[in-house]
Amino acid sequence: MTPDAPQYRRYLTDFDSARTGHVFTEVLVVGTGVAGLSAALAAAERADVIVLAKGALEFSSTHWAQGGIAAVTAPADTVAQHVADTLTVGCGLNRREVVETVCGAGPQRIDELIAAGFAFDEHAGELALGLEGGHHENRVLHAGGDATGRALSDFLFVRAKAHERIRVFQQCFLIDLLTVDGVCCGAVTFHPKYGHQLVWAGQTVLASGGYGQLYRETTNPPGITGDGVAAALRAGACVADMELVQFHPTTLYIAGATRALISEAVRGEGAHLVDRSGYRFMADYHADGELAPRDVVSRAIVAQLKKTHGTSVFLDVRPIGVERFARRFPTITARCAEFGVDVGRELIPVRPAAHFSIGGVVVDTTARTNVPGLFACGEVSCSGLHGANRLASNSLLEGLVLGKVAGREAASAVNGVARPAGRLRNENPRSPKTLLDLADVRQSLRSLLWRNAGIERHGERLAETVEIIDFWSKFTLDKTFDDTAGWEIQNMLLLGRMLADGARRRTRSCGVHYRADEPADAPQRLHGGYRLEGGVLQARWLGLDFEPLAH
Ligand SMILES: Cc1cc2nc3c(=O)[nH]c(=O)nc-3n(C[C@H](O)[C@H](O)[C@H](O)COP(=O)(O)OP(=O)(O)OC[C@H]3O[C@@H](n4cnc5c(N)ncnc54)[C@H](O)[C@@H]3O)c2cc1C
Repeated sequence: MTPDAPQYRRYLTDFDSARTGHVFTEVLVVGTGVAGLSAALAAAERADVIVLAKGALEFSSTHWAQGGIAAVTAPADTVAQHVADTLTVGCGLNRREVVETVCGAGPQRIDELIAAGFAFDEHAGELALGLEGGHHENRVLHAGGDATGRALSDFLFVRAKAHERIRVFQQCFLIDLLTVDGVCCGAVTFHPKYGHQLVWAGQTVLASGGYGQLYRETTNPPGITGDGVAAALRAGACVADMELVQFHPTTLYIAGATRALISEAVRGEGAHLVDRSGYRFMADYHADGELAPRDVVSRAIVAQLKKTHGTSVFLDVRPIGVERFARRFPTITARCAEFGVDVGRELIPVRPAAHFSIGGVVVDTTARTNVPGLFACGEVSCSGLHGANRLASNSLLEGLVLGKVAGREAASAVNGVARPAGRLRNENPRSPKTLLDLADVRQSLRSLLWRNAGIERHGERLAETVEIIDFWSKFTLDKTFDDTAGWEIQNMLLLGRMLADGARRRTRSCGVHYRADEPADAPQRLHGGYRLEGGVLQARWLGLDFEPLAH
C-alpha cells in the first residue's frame, strides 16, 4: 500500500442507539434473491426472521436469471461428473469440499422444489434438461422457457411472505453491519419512510448479491453494487478474489438497450456465433466451438472484434428454428422484438459484459464468515465453489444449497435476540471539501474498470487504475451521505480498489482473469484476501481453503 492509501471509515453513516429507531429479530437476512429467500425459509423453521432488500423483488440477479439451475437429475448423469465439470472449469482454485457439498445436494433441492409445487419445464413427460458450456451432460433445469429466475424468485417470495415467522422489509437499504466487541449483532438500515433504523439480530445472514455494477457493461440489475461485501469488510470480515469476475460472452448490444443477456442455453440449443462478415469463428479459438467456457468465448469475441474492426459480433439463431426458439426463449424473443430485431430473419448483435462476481466475503463450509454472528451465502460470498471460473447455472444451485445451510446454521446458533448492552453510536467528522457530482463519479468508475480491469488486463494499467481510484476516494470517502446513491458509490470505490489491486497482484492468467502481459499458464493457486485494519486495506494471499499463509 502507498503511504497515502485511503482511510476507510468503520461506518458510512451517523447513528445513535439512544435516538435511532430499533427493530428486533432472531435472524436477519439481507437480500431477497435465491440465497436470501432460501436462507430465510430455512431459518424460519426454528427462528423469527426479518428478510430485507433495498429494492423490489425484480432488482435481484436471481429474478433475471434465464438459463436455469444445474443439477443431476438424468439417470445417465452422476454427481461425480457434475463435480468434475465444476472443478475443470474452476481451474484448480475451487474448494473441493464445497463443490462436492453443492453438487451432491443439488438433486435433493430440486426434489424439494418440485414437491413444494415448483413447475420446471418438461419434455415428453420428463424434466427438460438444457446443455450449457462446460457441462458434459444435459443437466440444466429451467422454468417458463428462459424465465427460470423470475419463476424461482416469485415462488420463494410467495412462500416467505406467507410464512408466519418471516417479516419482509422492502425498500430497506443495508448501510452497515453493527458489531459490538467484534460480534455482529444486526445492521443499520435506511428506509425512505422510516429513515435510519437499528435492526438488532441474534444472527445475521448476508445474501446481498455480487458487484456487477462496478462495470459499465454488465448484465446485472442496477442495485447490484456490492454493498454487502463492503459492509462485511468494514465489520471485520475477510474478503477474497475480487478480481475474479466472469464476463458473459453474449449480451444484446444495441445503443440505448440495457445489456440484456442472451443466455448460453441459446448456443447450447445450436445458435452460431458469427462476425460481421458472417464467418463462424469460434472453431478457430477452441475445440468446443460456441460451447467453450465463457472466458474463452468472451476473449475470442474481443480478439475477433479487433481482427475485423467490428463493434459487435452476432448470434445466428436460425439453426434452432424460429418456432422452437420462440417457444424455448420467449423473453429473449420479446426483448429483441422491442428493438426491431426479428430473430427469424436477422442476426442478434452481441458483445461480452460483466456477469458474475466470484469474489466476495470468505465463508467456511457452514457459510460462516470470520466475524462471529455473521453468515454469508450466494453471490455475496466467496465459498470456493466456483474456483477461478463459474460453471454455467451453478450459481442458482449455490443459492439454493448454501442459502439453506446458512439459514439453518444461523437459526441453530441463535441464542435470543441481540439487544444493545449500552449506547452505540457513530459520528463521522464533517468534511470541509466540495460537494460532488455522484453520478459522474459512478460513471467514471464503471468506465475505468471496464477499460482497465475488464476482459483483458495489463499490470501497468491496473496499477494506474488503483492510483486513480485512490485519488477519487480521497474526496468521496470523507463525506457522510444521507442517501443510497452516496453509500453505493462509497461501497463501489472500496470494491473497485480491491478489484483492480487484486488483478494487479494476480500476475498470472487464471480462469476468468486474463493478464495479456503475463499470459503464461502457471496460475497462482491462491486466493487474494483483503481485510481492513485500522481503516487501511491490507492484502494477503490465502491458501486453497482460504487459510492464512505465513508471510
Ligand atoms: C441476467 C442474468 C442471468 C443469469 N442467469 C443465470 C442462470 O441461468 N443460472 C444461474 O445459475 N445463474 C444465473 N445468473 C447468476 C445468478 O442469477 C446469481 O448469481 C444469483 O441469482 C445470485 O443470487 P443471490 O441471492 O446471491 O443474489 P441476488 O439474486 O442478486 O439478490 C441480492 C439481493 O440483495 C439485495 N441487496 C443488495 N444490496 C443491498 C443493500 N445494500 N441493502 C439491502 N438489500 C440489498 C438486492 O435487492 C437483492 O434482493 C444470472 C445472472 C444475471 C444477472
